[in-house]
Amino acid sequence: MQQTRTWAEIDLSALRHNLSHAHNHSGKAVMGVIKADAYGHGLIRFARALEKENLPFFGVAHTQEARRLTEAGLNTQIYLLSATLPDERAEIAANPWTPCLCTLDEIAHFGRLSQEKPLTAHLAIDTGMGRGGFLPNQIAEALQALKKHPQLTLGGIGSHLPAADEDPEFTKEQFLLFDRLVRDILATPDLKIVENPWIHLANSAGLLGYCSETSNLIRPGLLLYGLSPIPEFQKYLRPVMTLKTRVSLINTLPAGHGVSYGRTILQKETRIAILGIGYGDGYPRALSDTGTHVLIRDTPCPLLGRVTMDQIIVDITHLPECETGDHAILFGQELLITDLATRAKTIAWEILTQLTPRVERHYINERAADSPTER
Ligand SMILES: *Cc1c(COP(=O)(O)O)cnc(C)c1O
Repeated sequence: MQQTRTWAEIDLSALRHNLSHAHNHSGKAVMGVIKADAYGHGLIRFARALEKENLPFFGVAHTQEARRLTEAGLNTQIYLLSATLPDERAEIAANPWTPCLCTLDEIAHFGRLSQEKPLTAHLAIDTGMGRGGFLPNQIAEALQALKKHPQLTLGGIGSHLPAADEDPEFTKEQFLLFDRLVRDILATPDLKIVENPWIHLANSAGLLGYCSETSNLIRPGLLLYGLSPIPEFQKYLRPVMTLKTRVSLINTLPAGHGVSYGRTILQKETRIAILGIGYGDGYPRALSDTGTHVLIRDTPCPLLGRVTMDQIIVDITHLPECETGDHAILFGQELLITDLATRAKTIAWEILTQLTPRVERHYINERAADSPTER
């Protein structure tokens, strides 16, 4: 078997665990948000695993991601999470993808395209995100415009939360506003909407901390991957990805010697291990000199000096049994990305999506029926 230096182990049983937590906690159907290469977990493999869970939707950012899913033969309904460019719309109308309508221009254009083939879209309303959708005072006009297009039907109504993990006061108000707007919309005479429309607002933080009375669908991303944007809920989740590398070299350096670029000077004689991972793999350079650690043989080993492109150096003075070839964990269940993100002054979403293609993705614990080798 070919050996790899650095790999991301992706535990699909953790995905199933997180998914059922999202569903049970909210009591709502789940749109699996798999944009940005499924948050670095690998779009197609991840979507195949998720397809077994019979979700009503996969959420992606735009047509390029939708196209990859459709070309790979995935059948779950694809929802496009952002506004569309004019030159993307013909492809959207020709495919079984669901766009959200953010502007009168989109309504008019999709309305024209729907003359060839009926089209279902969701209405995006802006309840505070400021990233697209009709403002409350623009909704009536949007609904009026829809009436001109007999083949363009609303399949749902959605909005998005800008601060569900930061600002509970605002977010509570936003949920109330959303529910009120949805009730008003649904009460509009002659509304062109399906019988049981999808009503959705909540991302991961929104579904954990809040509840909308009108909504029947949630849109978790981060939570599916086992990380909670609200720390108190982390205990219910299992991180899907564990980032691993191996010890490539061990050495003992004297006090006063420097380590890595810029020469961080050692205060005492130090036994060091070199690990085959760096910012070229997506391990954040901003973790340099933040007091972070990695795990070797379940033991925290402090990061020494700056993160380089392909290698990092850790202190193993307290771990005499450490050997070349030992596995090291950069993040996972016992070393949460959310904690690393705080140290690196970023967010878990960014660390996940910045993992580079050099990191091989290894999938484990697929449902037995999916992996013939287990039979
Ligand atoms: C990315 C995204 C989500 C998922 O957000 P998480 O915080 O990762 O759960 C949900 N809805 C929309 C519109 C998004 O863009």
